[in-house]
Amino acid sequence: MRAFGYSVAGSPAEAVRIAAGTPGSAFVAGGTDLLNLMRDGAQAHDHLVDVNDLDLDEVAFDSGRLRVGALARMRQVAEHSRVRREFPVLSEALLASASPQVRNMAAIGGNLLQRTRCGYFRDAGSACNKRAPGSGCPALTGCNRGHAILGGSDHCIAAHPSDLAVALTALDATVHLLGPGGERAVPIAGFYLLPGSAPNRENALRPGELITRVDVPRTSLAARSRYLKLRDRATFEFAVVSVAAALRTRGRVVADVRLAFGGVGTRPWRDVRVEAALRGRPLTRRAIAEAGRVLVRDAVPREENGFKVELVQRALESVLGDLGGVR
Ligand code: SF4
Repeated sequence: MRAFGYSVAGSPAEAVRIAAGTPGSAFVAGGTDLLNLMRDGAQAHDHLVDVNDLDLDEVAFDSGRLRVGALARMRQVAEHSRVRREFPVLSEALLASASPQVRNMAAIGGNLLQRTRCGYFRDAGSACNKRAPGSGCPALTGCNRGHAILGGSDHCIAAHPSDLAVALTALDATVHLLGPGGERAVPIAGFYLLPGSAPNRENALRPGELITRVDVPRTSLAARSRYLKLRDRATFEFAVVSVAAALRTRGRVVADVRLAFGGVGTRPWRDVRVEAALRGRPLTRRAIAEAGRVLVRDAVPREENGFKVELVQRALESVLGDLGGVR
């Protein structure tokens, strides 16, 4: 592991000042992903800015929104009684993530910035355009069972790993940032970038910017929501396919719906055409199947991950069927 400097920030402004003035720096809170990557040589930093002392761990409600501080721990949010009641999809996504030990340690901000589980990315000896731009993407023709079928490019097809980000995408969350230029807010739909020709750029963060909190609108949709995660084993495993769904009906008719998908996209995957295919229609198996076909219309399956095309449609059918009482 390469040697690095270390400092403890006493305020968000100080954290940003240190990071902006120290090339090669990164923020660290729980460190449950970052330190593994650094130990394995898949990511290197010259300096870590410890943000654990910052007063950014709120889980608070006001009339219009839930505010989750970037340093709230996964467990703290997942087990919060009002989060469970008013935002079940968030609680379920968090409880389906990682292990109890990791959920005790890992912070919400870090969860949103965790890196892909692509084996080539995590192996410092492999070529990988995301880790070493221009070196190639062996996953295109190699081991790609866990990779994305939506949003990929000739340069990268890595699946986005965060369950929480998928749930937040379905709920139209906003990510709040503090940087050298001040505060700004970014809708989560615009926070994560497609890989295109620069897969090393994964999000809208500017140099020195710190995630301070995430806001989630309080709606009747959020209160009737679910997260379904399909994975290879029951715990401490990343999604093969996942669906975050929120539904509002008038009688049998879909008044409104929000859907986001994990395991299939290079970013938390939301396609408003899928929601439009359901809105205003009676929620039936046929309507769900048609929406599922819209979802995979642009899918590009590879040699080992073609099964996701059908699996994600079945997952959509299952979660909407449960939420809407469709038999
Ligand atoms: Fe790297 Fe992306 Fe290719 Fe994986 S899929 S090897 S992360 S470029």
